[in-house]
Amino acid sequence: MSRLEKLKKRLAELDPSFTAKEDRGTVVLTGESDDWRKIVRAGKLAVDKKRYLGVVNRIRLKGFEQRTPDPIVRDKALDGAAPDVLVIGGGIVGCAAARALRRYDISVMLAERGYDVALGGSSRNGGVVHVGINYSPHAQKHIYNNRGNAMYEGLCRDLGVPFEQKGQVLLIGKRWEKLLCTVLALNAKRLLIPGVKFMKREELLSVEPHIPEWIYGGLYMPTGGITSPYQMTVALAENAVTNGARICLNTVVEGMDTEDGKIRAVYTNRGVIRPKLVINAAGVYSDVIADMAGDRTFTVHPRKGTDIIMDKKKGYMVRTSMAKSPTTVPPVSGGAEEARPGGLKAVIAALHSHTKGIASIHTADGNMIIGPDALEVPDREDTSTTAESMDAIFDAQSRISEGVGRQDVIAYFAGVRAPTYEEDFVVRKGIFTENILEAAGIQSPGITAAPAIAEDLAEWAAEYLAKFGKVRRNPSFDPVRKKKPCLREMTEEERAALIAERPDYGEIVCRCEEVSKGEILDALRSPLPVYTVDAVKRRVRPGMGRCQGGFCSPLVVKIIAEETGMTPEEVTKGNARSNILFGDTKHPGEQGK
Ligand SMILES: Cc1cc2nc3c(=O)[nH]c(=O)nc-3n(C[C@H](O)[C@H](O)[C@H](O)COP(=O)(O)OP(=O)(O)OC[C@H]3O[C@@H](n4cnc5c(N)ncnc54)[C@H](O)[C@@H]3O)c2cc1C
Repeated sequence: MSRLEKLKKRLAELDPSFTAKEDRGTVVLTGESDDWRKIVRAGKLAVDKKRYLGVVNRIRLKGFEQRTPDPIVRDKALDGAAPDVLVIGGGIVGCAAARALRRYDISVMLAERGYDVALGGSSRNGGVVHVGINYSPHAQKHIYNNRGNAMYEGLCRDLGVPFEQKGQVLLIGKRWEKLLCTVLALNAKRLLIPGVKFMKREELLSVEPHIPEWIYGGLYMPTGGITSPYQMTVALAENAVTNGARICLNTVVEGMDTEDGKIRAVYTNRGVIRPKLVINAAGVYSDVIADMAGDRTFTVHPRKGTDIIMDKKKGYMVRTSMAKSPTTVPPVSGGAEEARPGGLKAVIAALHSHTKGIASIHTADGNMIIGPDALEVPDREDTSTTAESMDAIFDAQSRISEGVGRQDVIAYFAGVRAPTYEEDFVVRKGIFTENILEAAGIQSPGITAAPAIAEDLAEWAAEYLAKFGKVRRNPSFDPVRKKKPCLREMTEEERAALIAERPDYGEIVCRCEEVSKGEILDALRSPLPVYTVDAVKRRVRPGMGRCQGGFCSPLVVKIIAEETGMTPEEVTKGNARSNILFGDTKHPGEQGK
């Protein structure tokens, strides 16, 4: 029986309607089911990296239609635009690509569906700059993670984005679990990751002083770091704009015309664009875009993860990004002798896990985040949070970070990862379509890998565009984005000098995060200004603290209105449909009565 026949048999056992065929080097699955888990299982069964380019899973989930928000505008503002490169997606990958492309003398347009950049996975994650010790040396995840990790310090310095490199730690509870650490340390050597070593409890206390008593030791990985993922994405976008890229927000790519293996036209809600080259950086929709372009060899199956943000006063409890080994079951009530899953089997399961597990993370802004979990969901837009996820995260982490509890929670959110069934990135030149570059399936560690992915995309774009004429380096490219004043990082003397020069910095708007009116005005006057409350929050943090905007939101609305000439009723929270104010509750003459 051929391998395809065997696969068909196994699929039919899963559901009689499931079947498979080979098409242009991919394996294509069809059928329908009302059970999403079966559809994902079918996709996983079909993976055969040696034989196929990838799995294209077209099995339908009965009764489910992907809902995507309607565009908020429909006009012809971009009709006839013909940039050298059109980047689709304003996440960290798309924004990094737009910036990297401007190192060359190439005209660059970026189309982002949302009202701002960093609205997808790039703002809904923990911001860990990963070490990446459990990848195979051939995986794109490994190649780009290693390169990206090494680029982060310099990039953050250039862009004025927070970065700390205090390492990552994998905790174990028992001596026998050292086996997992030994295997991982050996893999780290193979992957050329420096400094990874096992530390017994006493030594580990110098890295993480608040680990609980039952911890035996842990694997310390010094090259792990932390950044602010949304600030990084905004900074990349702003620097791309300063260097001449055009970022078009509220611009949805809705279709493409292809002919003779080439994209001829890209249809958007703002008109038809005719780029020479397209870069697909559309996150959880990257397979949909690849389909439009006739270049699909993979499928994104959305995987949701929830993160919980703790009050800053608990930030001291963790200094790194710290997780327990999946082989470790913490004692229930302080007793050291707890049953745990079997030895070698658990080690192997841990090595093959596709998620990095639930961690306690010290964020770039001094909070503690715990999470994320990992749930397969059909809906690419499903960022709902559930009590079950919260419970599971607390359950996993409460005995790692003892003394941190539900009373410390200030916010929680969920993000959707974009894994392929092969569980690797798809960063490549077009296979069936000549003028597309794919940066698809960028699940974790996408934040870490993005700068390196962007470097390759820019180089391949320059190579491709050389067909149309010589592509020069851009002599005026400036990688540096001047950091704007940040009051909470300043000494008393520095603050006094700044306030004397610009009194707006003396007017504190957000007391939790110490954000001044001057900083909010800077955000509104930046190279990529976005006049909404949430955009300001992502840029300079008013509303990110304990009160979650309870006090400062009305003031932010007022500042945006004054700066732009909008009425307060016109200022929105996020997209154009998210109004905050609807009118006066009292006539002006009655105010204060
Ligand atoms: C819970 C969670 C935790 C994570 N933790 C980490 C971590 O600690 N470290 C790490 O390195 N990585 C982490 N990741 C992974 C990381 O967040 C992603 O890999 C990364 O953000 C992907 O970036 P992107 O630019 O590819 O996608 P996105 O940020 O999703 O951007 C894609 C963009 O494309 C736009 N788009 C889609 N379709 C269209 C269209 N038709 N027209 C126009 N625009 C379109 C979307 O609106 C979106 O803005 C985590 C992810 C999750 C979900």
